[in-house]
Amino acid sequence: MNSARGLASDIRESRKTAVQVLEDFLKNIDVREDDVNAFNLVDRENALEAAAKIDETLASGRDAGPLAGVPVAIKDNLCTRNLATTCSSRILEGWEPPYDATVVERLRSAGAVIIGKTNLDEFAMGSSTEHSAYGPTRNPRDLTRVPGGSSGGSAAAVAAGFAPIALGSDTGGSIRQPAALCGVVGVKPTYGLVSRYGLVAFASSFDQVGPFANDVADAALVLETIAGHDPLDSTSIPSPPPSLSDRLSSGVDGLRVGLVSELLEGVDEDVVEQLHQTADALRAGGAIVDSVSIPAVEYGLTAYYLIAPAEASSNLARYDGVRYGMRAEGSEVAEMNAATRRQGFGDEVIARIMMGTFALSAGYYDAFYGKAQKVRTLTRRDFDSAYAKHDILLSPTSPSVAFRFGERSDPMTMYRCDTCTVPSNLIGDPAISVPYGTGEGGMPVGVQVLAPQLGESQMFQVASFIESQAPKQDAV
Ligand code: GLN
Repeated sequence: MNSARGLASDIRESRKTAVQVLEDFLKNIDVREDDVNAFNLVDRENALEAAAKIDETLASGRDAGPLAGVPVAIKDNLCTRNLATTCSSRILEGWEPPYDATVVERLRSAGAVIIGKTNLDEFAMGSSTEHSAYGPTRNPRDLTRVPGGSSGGSAAAVAAGFAPIALGSDTGGSIRQPAALCGVVGVKPTYGLVSRYGLVAFASSFDQVGPFANDVADAALVLETIAGHDPLDSTSIPSPPPSLSDRLSSGVDGLRVGLVSELLEGVDEDVVEQLHQTADALRAGGAIVDSVSIPAVEYGLTAYYLIAPAEASSNLARYDGVRYGMRAEGSEVAEMNAATRRQGFGDEVIARIMMGTFALSAGYYDAFYGKAQKVRTLTRRDFDSAYAKHDILLSPTSPSVAFRFGERSDPMTMYRCDTCTVPSNLIGDPAISVPYGTGEGGMPVGVQVLAPQLGESQMFQVASFIESQAPKQDAV
């Protein structure tokens, strides 16, 4: 497996050209993309042109950046200039943003080559990538199983060797859960660490952009590239971002790690087993590992599934057939608006808009939306007390390994996939999913490392240690 770091240095030191590297990945795409369906769009021509430019820059002796010539796959809810951005929804069909998301721009300036746009659950609502208007993405490790979601295309692209790195967005777990199910690394940064400018909004108080990678060090490099203040996002943190790469091999000696007991409840045996193995590995590395209770996480899922749809119902009001994408026929404007939305949105999106509108409606606001916001405060307090005695917390990323298509057809069963991931979104803390061992059917298990706000340095340090102790996984 080629790391992004390795590829960038091969290219910088002329062992390979950026075009050769890109062509290798395009070949992998040619062989397996029909089966996997990770991409909504593979942008061959522009990618080849960008790679050739990197080679020219290097040939003339100039610096081409830390990610020189590294292909990167971008979730299709991140705006790319003059390149279709669909959110895997019919309603955005034909829309080409006139600008790049800040994260895309930062990757390009670091020398990365955008290889294509990846599939997702429509508007990032889902946990399996089954809710895409462009068909499901399949898990490269077992094509009968889902890759997780909503960033299933990005996770699958990295796992299948279509790109060494990818970007996703995480509102309630959409980077970490597919990373876990596909056996790659996925990071949800501290809220505000990475700019949301150009990320199509789902639930603005939760949404964060983050990397997928084959290893923790690559994820650190990508996060370092995209993190940092952006005046175009009013929620962007103005202080300098934490440094990540320099502490990766510092070990875990003396660190206090808490295993969140509530997040082991209802989790499949095979996943729990790997968590205990991880805890033992941390202990062997000198960490002090014990159980910690965070009672408020019990309400996390309920609070998330009120607030996220509430915010979505407002954010998605802009798709009215006037400004973006498709337009259905109607004899007057209101009829056209309604017809466009009915035809343009899939069932899950419509369900969320209805739930959200209901939760915000007069007479129900206090009972639902208002109460869910109080759960956020409660969750913050409970986590603060846990962090008073622990440096880092640990939990499964997903309650199960990748499940089979159609296996979770009712919404509640699907929503339960997010139990372990939503708490970090509710409070804005960072979390990373690292592969550790396998479970049922030989499918990968992901371990989640949680840290307090802007605690990414230590989070990556622990994640890197866990990775170094993990049983080796077969390549796909
Ligand atoms: N699965 C969660 C949902 O459906 C999270 C989605 C996300 O993080 N974008 O809302």
